[in-house]
Amino acid sequence: MQQLLSPHEPHPLEAHNSAGTSDFVVICEHAGRLIPGALGDLGLDASELTRHIAWDIGAREIAMALADRLDAPLFMQRYSRLVCDCNRRPDVDSFMPVISESTEIPGNMNVSADARAARVTEIFNPFHDHVSAELDKRRAADRRTLLVTIHSFTPVYKGVERPWEIGVLYNRDKTLSPAMLELLRAKTDHVVGDNQPYAVGDETDYAIPVHGEARGLPCVEIEIRNDLTTGDAQAEYWSALLADMLTRAAKGL
Ligand SMILES: [Zn+2]
Repeated sequence: MQQLLSPHEPHPLEAHNSAGTSDFVVICEHAGRLIPGALGDLGLDASELTRHIAWDIGAREIAMALADRLDAPLFMQRYSRLVCDCNRRPDVDSFMPVISESTEIPGNMNVSADARAARVTEIFNPFHDHVSAELDKRRAADRRTLLVTIHSFTPVYKGVERPWEIGVLYNRDKTLSPAMLELLRAKTDHVVGDNQPYAVGDETDYAIPVHGEARGLPCVEIEIRNDLTTGDAQAEYWSALLADMLTRAAKGL
């Protein structure tokens, strides 16, 4: 097996507030934009590596502030979604995209099966195995768990503007997600997307279907438009709003 990460490179998982006592568990799969040294810059200009195609801008700061407010454990992933998208199953094409939005990713073209497998075994698996183990522990201890994933999205995708400021994304969950949608619409003036800019699906997501739905946990994916996610004030604003809405939604379940 080919080695991808060298010993000095960080583990893909960044855990925050692991001992948190909340019923909520927060996941942020697109928190980071590191690229293993062995992959260089994936053949991309530096300007591409700070765009939304590389990571979810502002999501890490919002997720950290939210976890602090809820006293929830938070699991973040450090490597760029261009290396491997930890919110995809490894068997789908977009796990290791050859094109993202309209940008070709040279470092993802003609990748050998071994090199692809190394991205799964050294980044995807260690991240998700840790999350699974933590959720197993909670289940064994009979702890209630509600799963929240935090993402951000670009205001313009392939030339099309997106009006939503925040989106509530879901698929099989019939409890937490509808409650969050209703609360955000009733209690805020935001333009709230109902499964917009995308819906949760088995091909286009991983954490919600696998860690949430398959375990029968109430779960919701939150997407915030990334022109509203940068800076401390924004992290404070969204984390306060989401902590309030999630706490209210959980009470009603
Ligand atoms: Zn994302």
